[in-house]
Amino acid sequence: MTKTLTDIQAELAGCRRCELCETRTNIVFGVGNPQAEVLFIGEAPGKQEDLGAEPFIGAAGQYLNTLLALAGLTREEIYIANVLKCRPPLNRDPHPSEIEVCTPYLRDQVRAINPDVLVTLGNFATRFILQTDRGITGLRGQIHLTGRFSVLPIFHPAAAIYDHSKGPLMEDDFRLLGRLLEKRRAEKTERGLA
Ligand code: SF4
Repeated sequence: MTKTLTDIQAELAGCRRCELCETRTNIVFGVGNPQAEVLFIGEAPGKQEDLGAEPFIGAAGQYLNTLLALAGLTREEIYIANVLKCRPPLNRDPHPSEIEVCTPYLRDQVRAINPDVLVTLGNFATRFILQTDRGITGLRGQIHLTGRFSVLPIFHPAAAIYDHSKGPLMEDDFRLLGRLLEKRRAEKTERGLA
């Protein structure tokens, strides 16, 4: 039976499956519309997210909100979760062992929300969802398929804040997301599913 988001959050409470439990302030479960059409998947909580127990509330979150408008979306319509639910110290990269033990929670979140589109933000989320070693630079700008999901890899907003050359590419990718959603909604209407 598919677990609900409430079941998954209860299971996650107090998790000590990896060493990040020693340094976190809060577990950052995820937030948004539980029936979202689009699930955004980031890497791991940063400092603000660790303190606030919510993903994408720092500078990267502000930038993400601006970009969402280019796809015709609001923050309330989407769901956002991370690959890792606890902050790695000093925002270091996630270790493979941490990804392995934490991602069953993300898999359950994907099943519970059952979105049409997964937007993977940055290398770690993209590699995990597409099960690839390829980097984000070669995968962004195209729609990929995995199972029944359309997957759109996009640079992590935090990377684009530090490297302004990524900004126009991010904007192109969010416009592509908007077109993808319009197409999927039109197909659903045609099939009488909307
Ligand atoms: S990162 Fe994931 S697996 Fe590790 S302690 Fe936090 S919730 Fe548990």
